[in-house]
Amino acid sequence: MAKRVLVKFSGEALAGEEGYGIDTQILNYIAGEIKSLIDAGIQVGVVVGGGNIVRGVTAAADGIITRTSGDYMGMLATVINGVAIQEALEHIGVETRLQTAIDMQEIGEAFIVRRARRHLEKGRVVVFAGGTGNPYFTTDTAATLRASEIGADMLIKATKVDGVYDKDPKKYPDAIKLDTISYDKALEDHIKVMDDTAIAQAKDNKLPIVVCNMFEKGNLLKIINGDTSLCSVVK
Ligand code: UDP
Repeated sequence: MAKRVLVKFSGEALAGEEGYGIDTQILNYIAGEIKSLIDAGIQVGVVVGGGNIVRGVTAAADGIITRTSGDYMGMLATVINGVAIQEALEHIGVETRLQTAIDMQEIGEAFIVRRARRHLEKGRVVVFAGGTGNPYFTTDTAATLRASEIGADMLIKATKVDGVYDKDPKKYPDAIKLDTISYDKALEDHIKVMDDTAIAQAKDNKLPIVVCNMFEKGNLLKIINGDTSLCSVVK
């Protein structure tokens, strides 16, 4: 059984029906799913995206905002989501710490890996916000990075899809979900659900990535207990 995991939630997933902003009911649901891991004695780190608020590439699309500034705006968006997840967790009695990749001492602690590990050992959920702190990266890469740094047994990418398919399931109704896929094959196919930089880094660090549907209630706990039937594992 995995002991320490990092769960990545995309910002988009927080948006709910509206397509933007933060749906507190979804937030509450996510917090409940995370709590089930904590209650099972698992140490949990969380990385959250920012796509429900700002994405660098989109912000910079017409050239008025530079890509670098757009990316910093995106990183700030992940901090907004990080605060929201922290609140939702504490609302249901889960102790948390928010660590930011860009110093924001009034809002969260600076990211310090040894401190993060200590919090995890004490049963606190550590929410890592601010991505990697660098423009031109994604929060998927931040997730593999933080997972590797804290020595997580696996990275769970909690998404809106059930896993990795052999072809686009939106276009092809006969698309088949793959139970496992190698890092090399995932890189060769440029799978949509995770960017290549993140996969390459996971490969270097032998970090398994479990892609699962976050709206499948109880799935996170199932995965921890070794049942990945409702997911795809990149390893
Ligand atoms: N971002 C960045 N560096 C990082 C992580 C994120 O510059 O290390 C910026 C980037 O602009 C990205 C935005 O933050 O578009 C939000 O993150 P992402 O798109 O990965 O969020 P998600 O798709 O998971 O909601």
